[in-house]
Amino acid sequence: MFRNKSAEKEERRKSQRVISRELKVNNWQTSKTKMKELNYMFVQAKWITNDMIANENIMEYKYNEHKTVKHFDKDKNELFTEITLGAAIHQELCQKVQQDIKNLSKKKNKSKVGKLKFKSEVNCIPLRTGSFRLVNSRNIRIPGFKKITVRGIDNIPENAEFATAKLMKKASGIYIVITCYVEKEKKNISKEIGVDFGVKNTITTSEGKIYNCQVGESERLKRLSKKFNHSQKGSSSRNKLYKLLQKEYEHITNIRNDKGNKIYHELSRDTFVYYQDDNFNGWKSFNMGRKVQYGVLGRVKHHLSNSEYALDVKRFCATTKVCSNCGTVKPEKLGLDVRTFECDECGAKLDRDVNAAINIKLLGQHKRPESGIDFEKRDNPLASDSSDAKIA
Ligand SMILES: [Zn+2]
Repeated sequence: MFRNKSAEKEERRKSQRVISRELKVNNWQTSKTKMKELNYMFVQAKWITNDMIANENIMEYKYNEHKTVKHFDKDKNELFTEITLGAAIHQELCQKVQQDIKNLSKKKNKSKVGKLKFKSEVNCIPLRTGSFRLVNSRNIRIPGFKKITVRGIDNIPENAEFATAKLMKKASGIYIVITCYVEKEKKNISKEIGVDFGVKNTITTSEGKIYNCQVGESERLKRLSKKFNHSQKGSSSRNKLYKLLQKEYEHITNIRNDKGNKIYHELSRDTFVYYQDDNFNGWKSFNMGRKVQYGVLGRVKHHLSNSEYALDVKRFCATTKVCSNCGTVKPEKLGLDVRTFECDECGAKLDRDVNAAINIKLLGQHKRPESGIDFEKRDNPLASDSSDAKIA
């Protein structure tokens, strides 16, 4: 019975994709006591985390043996407080810390268990599947709270199947981030393009369209950080500025996210996208909970890497020095200041990034039989794996 159920689930997952949606706790409609209780959850999460880190054998740490945790007050006096968080959350938190340590040791490529630092704050509390549910279009139930008024429920697709959730504390407030499964989009692909990620924060398509991905720091951010740097350490005005700064960072991150989403949707509308990712670092470990510091370009790449209608051609290939028209390879790499590609062989003359994007498309089509391109007929060195088009 159980096996059948999990097999059924596995089958269903094949036609689904994962999305996450943020619900913001509505400050105006939530009582002060409730807000305090919510905030106290993060305080307890910090205590639990630090209690674990202080423990000699973290991997053996069992939440139900540590219902009272040791922590310190402002004057570094030891205090012992009983945890009032629900058992499920308490357990989940402990498992998360243990997982973090495992990941850390994996990252360092050592068999030894990594070491975590004490946390000055913990801003993310995991909620396991089934421990939360929507009450109606404005309220959600989470462990310890029968009803919390949130905004954003209408952004969750109707047939979404909930997986896990996270309670998150940000500069602008408290959020419940829900991860859910939804039916995969069915797209009618009418064309294929290649895209080139430029060094100067641009995306160029094989059709010659250029997207500017620059979202700089705001004037307000510059002003605030200047003020912050000149403020006295430990002063209340510095604290205030810190909070304002965090809020501004969050604001800029949101703008970047929006822009990334927009560009991705424009690129991928009815389109199969080929791209090449030379420096793909850390996107696999992308975590909504972390303070996100990445450009718009990274966001677009992240979307593409998650899409079924995009393919990373992967190979680090000399897409800039090959003529996309006749396939002739230039003996030398094009300098960064050379903006136009000119072929000595066939006389083709086009923008260097567009040339690269077309090559990426050709390379991708070769890798993807469904594209229906007959490459036998095309003598493009990029299409052959044994070519010397690769950069050494
Ligand atoms: Zn040529």
